[in-house]
Amino acid sequence: MTDYEAAILDVDGTIVRGEELLPNVTDGLHALEDAGIDRLLFSNNPTRGSDHYGETLEPYGIEVDPNAVLTSATVSAEYLATTHPNERVYLVGSDRLVTILEDAAVEVTDDPDAAEVVLGSFDKEFSYGTLWESLRALEGDVPFYGTDPDATIPIDGGLIPGSGAIIAAMEAVADREADSILGKPSSIAAATAMNRLESDPERTLVVGDRLNTDIALGERAGMTTVLVRTGVTEQADLEAAAVQPDHVLESLAEIETLL
Ligand SMILES: [Mg+2]
Repeated sequence: MTDYEAAILDVDGTIVRGEELLPNVTDGLHALEDAGIDRLLFSNNPTRGSDHYGETLEPYGIEVDPNAVLTSATVSAEYLATTHPNERVYLVGSDRLVTILEDAAVEVTDDPDAAEVVLGSFDKEFSYGTLWESLRALEGDVPFYGTDPDATIPIDGGLIPGSGAIIAAMEAVADREADSILGKPSSIAAATAMNRLESDPERTLVVGDRLNTDIALGERAGMTTVLVRTGVTEQADLEAAAVQPDHVLESLAEIETLL
């Protein structure tokens, strides 16, 4: 019998790289299933909805219930809909995120002077003009959030700027910090995940490739943390890090050794 009843699994660098499944991770996903462990996929990608990963994984025979998928976009949408109902959100982010917010009944405005809440995220169109509008939107005591802290995103052949870099620029012009970054590793993200799973943190595994998001979330919430070496974390990063995982695996494929 395993000690665990639930597992929070990161997606990029843990299950997939780009749109490709990492080698043998289906073994790990099936091992969790066979042990009766509920699975929740949790990605910090703010341009994905709950429906995205099912389409990626179903061709490999892995069924994904959209209710068991969180992203920093869906967590942000759920949080804003609950804590700021009927307030207009000025968003610096992708068109996909606009749709995810609106699907959750969050009103999005592109008029900075109408902003009642500001949300910073990943925006490929980000410009001097966007930053200027952000400055106007953030005047006064407007609540200010970010979707996720990732300053860079690994892609084939290097890194591109992520939400964290854009949120930092917005913080700089407004001369204030965001009130909260809603994706991993925030306490809001952990609470949203635990709500979905209905399990105790002590009986929950969190598996991911990033120390400052996946492992930090699990450590703060009192979960058992597992770093996989299939993503962004190199041995030198691990040795230098303040946050240390409970276990290190070469891949999610080996998760059965911990069950
Ligand atoms: Mg990852």
